Amino acid sequence: MQTNVPGIYAAGDCTDQPKFVYVAAAGGSRAGINITGGEAMLDLGAMPVVIFTDPQVATVGLTEERATTQGLRVDTRVLSLDSVPRALVNFDTAGFIKMVAEQDSGRLLGVQAVAAGAGELIPTAVMAMQANMTVQEMADELFPYLTMVEGLKLCAQTFIRDVAQLSCCAGLGCVPSSVGMLEQARQPAQIRDHAEQLDQGLEDDDNDSGPPGFRQ
Ligand SMILES: Cc1cc2nc3c(=O)[nH]c(=O)nc-3n(C[C@H](O)[C@H](O)[C@H](O)COP(=O)(O)OP(=O)(O)OC[C@H]3O[C@@H](n4cnc5c(N)ncnc54)[C@H](O)[C@@H]3O)c2cc1C
Repeated sequence: MQTNVPGIYAAGDCTDQPKFVYVAAAGGSRAGINITGGEAMLDLGAMPVVIFTDPQVATVGLTEERATTQGLRVDTRVLSLDSVPRALVNFDTAGFIKMVAEQDSGRLLGVQAVAAGAGELIPTAVMAMQANMTVQEMADELFPYLTMVEGLKLCAQTFIRDVAQLSCCAGLGCVPSSVGMLEQARQPAQIRDHAEQLDQGLEDDDNDSGPPGFRQ
């Protein structure tokens, strides 16, 4: 934040830093610290970017191309949204989540997502990167089922196994029967039929001891 003029500090759009509100705010607060004798740094290595298109585009850290250009050896995985239960229940499976990990250590280097709500899941990837987490560690974390951010865990799991083979509540093996039915319902007539089945299924669930809507 210190400029080349002694005693003059700068933050925000008047600098050559990325032009975002949160970068300007972070730079401004750190500039204030440094003006008063502190030594605050601004690390933009895990700076998220969101493009508010439909679906949203969100990214943090290195893309595969940039990592490779930097001479890093990487492993990458792309998880299609039709493997994310939240996307299935939303009938909105357009998009993907891509993870870039350091090949030897498994350390998460970057995430790119094209998805409805991609901007909501990317801060979790920011935290994971700030914590120097590996994809294995992310795969082992608890992510709430039926959230879009669960796609991060599922994508992390694809580094070590086929996500379609995952067991209950870790992958599609646990998609509620209603979700499975609805996903199959591509045609309007089918949707109507399946909606009726869904209603019936939920009524039956009320009589089960397990959580509503689930078939294991
Ligand atoms: C259309 C648009 C959409 C954007 N959307 C997003 C977004 O979704 N997310 C995001 O993170 N960023 C977004 N940005 C970028 C974001 O607004 C800027 O990066 C951020 O506001 C920069 O903060 P700043 O404090 O450096 O500058 P500014 O917010 O521009 O603040 C500078 C202030 O200085 C005042 N000023 C200028 N000259 C003088 C003067 N001579 N004397 C006194 N005051 C002066 C101005 O009036 C202004 O209030 C968007 C920008 C635009 C233009």
